[in-house]
Amino acid sequence: MTFRELGLSDEVLNAVADAGYEHPTPIQEQAIPQVLMGRDILGCAQTGTGKTASFTLPMIDILAQGRARARMPRSLILTPTRELAAQISENFEIYGKYNKLTMALLIGGENFGPQMEKLDRGVDVLIATPGRLIDHFERGGLLLTDVKILVIDEADRMLDMGFIPDVERIVSFLPKIRQTLFFSATFPPEVKRLSDSFLINPKEITVSPKVSTAETVRHFLAPTRAKDFEKRETLRRILQAEEVKNALIFCNRKRDVDIVARSLKRHGFQAAPLHGDMAQAARTETLEAFKTGDITYLVATDVAGRGIDIAGLSHVFNFDVPFHAEDYIHRIGRTGRAGAAGRAITLATRAESKYVAAIQKLIGKTIPPLENVEAPAQSEDTETDTQDAAAEADTSGRSRSRSRRRPRKAKEGTAEARPRSRSASADKPKRGSAPASKPAAARTKKADTAKDTSRRKKSGRGDEPQVGLGDHVPAFLMRDPRKSG
Ligand code: AMP
Repeated sequence: MTFRELGLSDEVLNAVADAGYEHPTPIQEQAIPQVLMGRDILGCAQTGTGKTASFTLPMIDILAQGRARARMPRSLILTPTRELAAQISENFEIYGKYNKLTMALLIGGENFGPQMEKLDRGVDVLIATPGRLIDHFERGGLLLTDVKILVIDEADRMLDMGFIPDVERIVSFLPKIRQTLFFSATFPPEVKRLSDSFLINPKEITVSPKVSTAETVRHFLAPTRAKDFEKRETLRRILQAEEVKNALIFCNRKRDVDIVARSLKRHGFQAAPLHGDMAQAARTETLEAFKTGDITYLVATDVAGRGIDIAGLSHVFNFDVPFHAEDYIHRIGRTGRAGAAGRAITLATRAESKYVAAIQKLIGKTIPPLENVEAPAQSEDTETDTQDAAAEADTSGRSRSRSRRRPRKAKEGTAEARPRSRSASADKPKRGSAPASKPAAARTKKADTAKDTSRRKKSGRGDEPQVGLGDHVPAFLMRDPRKSG
C-alpha cells in the first residue's frame, strides 16, 4: 500500500516523501483513512510502530480548513511527558511543513509567558502535559470549547504517573461532540474505563511490536536464586563480566527499580532509576545524564523504559523476566539497533521458568544460558547484603529498628563501595564499571542530586536518622502529595 491510497493531501504526501517514508506502517494503514472520515480511534500500539504519524498526518489535513481563534485551540493532544510532547511537535513540524498550522506546546518546567502569548494568537494544535494545561486553564488563559479533535497518547503511562484524574477533568471541559483518538500500549482496567467513557463507536486497531528479534542481538539466560538480594548479586557479577557501554535494566515493579538502582550505586556502579513516580524534572535530568553517558545503567519499568529512544545500547538486562512475552521483545529491541551488536541478558529464577517458556515460544528460539556466571551459592558480602536488605525495608516503608541493625554507609567511589567479587581480569578499568579513573560519585552527582532530592521529598527520608517519632517516621506521613505534570 502507498500513502497516496490513504486519502492524504498532496501537501502532506510531499512532506512524507521528504521524510523518506516509502510505505505506511500497519497502524498508519488502518488509522489514517478512519481518522480522515472523522471516526474515533482506539489504538493499542507502542512507540516504534509509527503511531504518531498515524494521527498527525490526517490531523494536518483535517485542520487545514479553518482558522483558530485566540485562546481557543482547535485540537488538543495530551501526553504524559515533556519528551513525548516535544517529539509530537517535531512530527507536526516535519509533516506540516507545506501547511500553515499554528502550534503551541504547554509543558511543565518552562516559562508561562511565551506559552500564553502563543495561545493568545490562536493555535490549531495544542500539545500539552495534563498538569501544565490545567495551570493555564485555571489562569483563564485558554478555553477548550472549540476543540474538534482530542488525542490521548500513551494512556497507560498517564495512569502510571497518576495523571488520570487530571485527564478526566480536562476532558470534562471539552465539547461532547468531537473526534477522539486514544492510544495506549496496554489496557489495564482503569485505562479501559477511560477509553469506554471518552470514545464513541471507535475503530479498534491493535498492532503488535515486531515479533522477530534483531539478528544482531544475542540473548542469554542467567539462572539466579530467588531471594532479591541474591538476584542483585547475580546482576552485579554479570555487569562486572560484561563490557557494558550503556544499558537498560528492566524490573517488573517500580519498587524494585528504586531498590536495584540504589543497590547498584552503593556498589559503585553508575546507575539511576527511572519510573513514573519520579518528578518530571528528575526524569528529564536522569535521561539526559544517560544520553550523555554520565549514567551507564538506567534501571526502569517497562512503561518508563518505553519512552526512551536512545539508539545503540550495548546491553539490555532483565532483572525480572517480563510477565508478558511481548514486553521481552520490546525490552530487547532497545539494543542491537541499526546493525550494531547487542546483548540481552535475562535473570531467571526457577519460579520464572513459565514466563521464559512463553518468551521462547513467541520468539521461536531457545535462549541459551549465559556462560561463566553461576548463581551465588551463598552471600559473599554480608555487609552489603545487610545494606541492601535495609534499602528494601526503607523503600517498602516497613519499620525497622535502625539502632539494632543500622547499616554502615559505604561511600561511593571508595574501596568499600567497590564490587568485591571481581575477577583478576575484571580489575582492569572498564567502560561502565564503577572503579574507573573518574570517581563515580563525581560523574553521577548531577543526576544523583535530582533523584535523591526527589526520593527524599517523596519518602521524607534521607540518610540521616529521623527525629521526633522514635527512629522511624512512617513513609506515608512524609510523602509529598503533590504530583507534577
Ligand atoms: P512512532 O511509533 O510514532 O514513535 O515512530 C517511530 C519512528 O518511525 C519515528 O522515528 C518515525 O519517524 C518513523 N516512522 C513513522 N512512520 C514511518 C514510515 N511509514 N516509514 C518509515 N519510518 C516511519
